[in-house]
Amino acid sequence: MALCSNPETMTTVESELEIVKKTLNEKVEGSELISCHPVAVNVRITRTKFKSVVVLLQFPDKYPTSAIIVELKSKTLPPRLLAKMTELCDQEVKKFLGKPQVIPILVFMRRFLDENALIACSDEFQYIKSRLLTDADQLKAKQKAGILSIRANQDKYFLDVKITVPDDYHASAVRIELKESNFPDNLTRVFIGQAVDLARQCVEAPLRRKPKDPPFEPKPSLKLVCDFLVNQCVRHCPLQTCPICQQRALPDDPKEAVTDPTDLKYVERVYCNHLFHYGCLDKYMKTPPFQGGKKCPACKQRIYHERWKITPKLAEERWAHHEAKKRELSEVVDFLGDCL
Ligand SMILES: [Zn+2]
Ligand SMILES: [Zn+2]
Repeated sequence: MALCSNPETMTTVESELEIVKKTLNEKVEGSELISCHPVAVNVRITRTKFKSVVVLLQFPDKYPTSAIIVELKSKTLPPRLLAKMTELCDQEVKKFLGKPQVIPILVFMRRFLDENALIACSDEFQYIKSRLLTDADQLKAKQKAGILSIRANQDKYFLDVKITVPDDYHASAVRIELKESNFPDNLTRVFIGQAVDLARQCVEAPLRRKPKDPPFEPKPSLKLVCDFLVNQCVRHCPLQTCPICQQRALPDDPKEAVTDPTDLKYVERVYCNHLFHYGCLDKYMKTPPFQGGKKCPACKQRIYHERWKITPKLAEERWAHHEAKKRELSEVVDFLGDCL
């Protein structure tokens, strides 16, 4: 399209730009005029570090009868989203044909940044919607409040969570709240606790850092958290077998899950994400070898669990004590056997 070269248009544009220079900051919050001349206007609009866009406006020859040409650039927003936003601008600008268009389009863009909280995670949201979740799951998004409601299903099990994307995402992490679940309570607690921890690690520098490590940068946490909750928890757990007895850890019907922690069939999850029956794991944890800690038979990672928080040395001593008791007992039996 021919850009502005017509002297009459030039005059119209120049007088509009005078007003733009004077009123921009008052009309469009977080705006910064990068360049402003009759060929093009360049304005950066920033709501947060990750919700920032540069709007390049060019005047066609027949401006303002013809629509201003809008181009958007951003270091943080993905091209697919920018293309969609440009399309919206092109529709919006049609409302202002024959009138000044610069300020109205910048106001429109600022409102878009304000009202679409999920734009800072738009690629992650697309992934969750089209690749992570299936038709059997549910996803509801409240764009303005930045809230996602996800209900993931696997066989008869489900987990329903509310995830809030804060305004200053990715500087802050997503918040995760449990709405409902029919997994055993202890598993649900671990799922949510570990998801919260994963999110936190995305925005908090690790305590132990080496001096040569590059400066810590916060990372997006939404995809990571949803991948964990949906794939590692909901999809994975109902089908898991106990690495010791090789039987399915959870019952087919969630209603039949054991709730007594001392029941041998109560299900425990260890940090490596394997599920064990309490009875199977308890026996395994108390049986040698203890050297270097007990390792998960399925993945060889060391087992850390609050119910078996003892050092290899103490475990060894307890085992020796237990064996000695067993020997004593069998000696008694032998002795009694001799007498009878
Ligand atoms: Zn078992
Ligand atoms: Zn394991």
